This record gives sequence, C-alpha cells and structure tokens, in this order.
Amino acid sequence: MSRPDIYSKSVGYRAVSNLLGLGKSFVKLYLLRQRVPLFVQILLTSRCNSRCKYCNIPLRDQKELSTERILRLIDEMAAAGTYRVGLYGGEPLLRDDIFTIVQHAKKKGLMVHLYTNGLLVKQNIDTIRLLDGIFISIDGPEEIHNELRGKGNFKKVIEAIELSNQYVPVYLMTVLTKQNKKYISYISELSIKYDCLVNYQVVFETPSLSADVSPYKLDTSEREECIKEIMALKNGNPRIALSNTNLQRMLNRTPSLQKKGYQCGVIKCWNGRGACVIDSDGVLYSCYQLIGKEKALNLNEHTFQDAFKYINSCTCLTCDVGCGAEYNLWLSLNPESVLNLVGLLRRSSRRKSSLHH
Ligand code: SF4
Ligand code: SF4
Repeated sequence: MSRPDIYSKSVGYRAVSNLLGLGKSFVKLYLLRQRVPLFVQILLTSRCNSRCKYCNIPLRDQKELSTERILRLIDEMAAAGTYRVGLYGGEPLLRDDIFTIVQHAKKKGLMVHLYTNGLLVKQNIDTIRLLDGIFISIDGPEEIHNELRGKGNFKKVIEAIELSNQYVPVYLMTVLTKQNKKYISYISELSIKYDCLVNYQVVFETPSLSADVSPYKLDTSEREECIKEIMALKNGNPRIALSNTNLQRMLNRTPSLQKKGYQCGVIKCWNGRGACVIDSDGVLYSCYQLIGKEKALNLNEHTFQDAFKYINSCTCLTCDVGCGAEYNLWLSLNPESVLNLVGLLRRSSRRKSSLHH
C-alpha cells in the first residue's frame, strides 16, 4: 500500500535530519541544562462528537487557534527543537484544517501522533496516512465500550482500527475504570489480533478536563490487580507499550512520598522543561494537571518560544497521576524504559515499512 509523496519522499534524508535535530536537543537539555520542548501536546479543539462519561472537555466553550496560527506554531516548535507532537482534542478530526496541520508538521520533520475516538477516521483517511501513528480509544467489548463512550461507537471504532491499520501504526488506548477493569486481557487480545500496540491508562481526575471520576475510579486494590494483570500479560504480549518500570511505579506508588519536582514522589518530572501542553484556546501550560492553574501565556499574543520560557519547570511536591510518566522515564534516561521504547519504535518502524511495500 503506497503512502503519499510527503511521507515516502526523502525518508532517509528526513531520518538523518531528525536524528541530528534530536542530538542537538539532547545536548541542550542534558549538557547545557537548557529547557527544550521535545514533546508537545496540543489540544486542537475542545469540540467532540462523543460524550464519554469521565470527560468534560466537550462542555468547554473555547475559541480555537486559527489555521494560520497553528501552522506558524509548528514552524516555531520545529525551530525550538520539538521532536514529537501529539494532536489531541476533543476530537482533533473535527477540525476542517486537520489535513493541512498534519501535512505541515510532517514537512517540518516532526513526529506526529493523533489521538482520536475513531468515529471520523473513515472520512479522514488522507490525513491518517500522513501520521507516524494513530491512538484510538477503546474501552472494552461492545457493551461496555458503548456504555462508557456512547451508543453505537464500538462498531465504528473497530472499523477505524481495521482501516487505520492498513496505513499507519495503531495504538489502542484504554482508560481503565471500575466498569471495564475485567477486560484488560480482551484489549490485549485485540492488540494481538490486529498486531498493534496498546496502552492502558488508569482513569484519574484532571481538574479542568475530566468529569467527577469517583464512580469510575479504581480503588487501591483494584488498581493493583489491574497493574499485576497488565504486567503478566506483557510477558507474552510485547505490544503492551507501558514499560515494566512504569508499571512497577504504579504498583508501588506511595502518594505520601513527596519530593519537589518529582511525579508520585519518585519519577523526575520533565514537564515545563522537556515537555508542555497547549490548550485548545492557545494557552501553553507545563502540564495537563495545571491547565487553568499556573500562570501561562496565550499563543494568540505570544510566540511559542516566549510562552514556553514563561512557564516553570515542574515544582510540584508530588502528584498522584500517571500521565506523562513514561515520557518522564525516557527523559530521565531510565534504562529499562528507554529499551522498552526502542523495542516499540522498532516494532512501529517494521510495521511502517511493511505498509509501505
Ligand atoms: S474522552 Fe475524548 S472522545 Fe471522549 S468525550 Fe472526552 S474528548 Fe471526546
Ligand atoms: S502535576 Fe504535572 S507537573 Fe506536577 S508532578 Fe504531576 S505530571 Fe509533573
């Protein structure tokens, strides 16, 4: 299956230039101890065509960044040393300009991943083909997925997985709740069936984005059972993306352990130093958890570089969330997590080449 020109042309040149860019960013981050926005997450919109029970994002009414501003932002990110951009929503495929945005980011040499509920994949296949990977949310078999994410969704999500799988590496994304915790192995089996990667995320509260998650939140023993099950499954299914170090960290979490600048008291947090988040109204924050809480600048009035400089590196005493923990382990050069990442990248790149030919 052939990919569009933008992707197939000068792949070797792009790979070399990306590696050089990454090397330069690493020198700045580790040797010169400068702040470099290697990983940027952008909420392209808060609009969504789903109403998942644990999410309040679609209830927000925010004026989105214009196409012109986003294209300029991509130029600014590339110049600032960004390596990977994650496109989130709401539902990012609801933006009419999504093809232009992804195409521009690829032209600038960024690694581009898109996070979707899958409902609009079929209509956006030209965009999907440009991506480095697509993350599709699936919370379990039909009944439970539809209960959590909306009636009739499941069939479209399976269709989206099957379709995307013909063009780009696919990641299944499962939010673990009380309601779907018994379907961890079902999702793992799906990843084997479709030979795609899989990520589990324990549901947690994000003050400005999530609904009251108490009806869905796992208690300590439920969470531990889930983590142990994922660890056991990972032994036989290397498509499970979470590293063992991250899983162990979730298992041995000690929220009482507090250390400034450390996530869960144990993992150095690089948010604000090596990563940042841009909300759908254009405000650049260091972390999802700090949206609306920390002082931050809007990209309608400031450059990306200035807005990134304005935020602080993480100074939290601790946090109880797992979001970004894997990034934090990579950026901390945790050996097992980095090796796990290399394995995932090799699997993705094998998958990409098999799709190209
Ligand atoms: S979790 Fe994602 S798909 Fe569901 S309502 Fe929120 S933004 Fe939409
Ligand atoms: S809340 Fe965000 S910035 Fe603070 S420690 Fe947790 S992940 Fe890092």
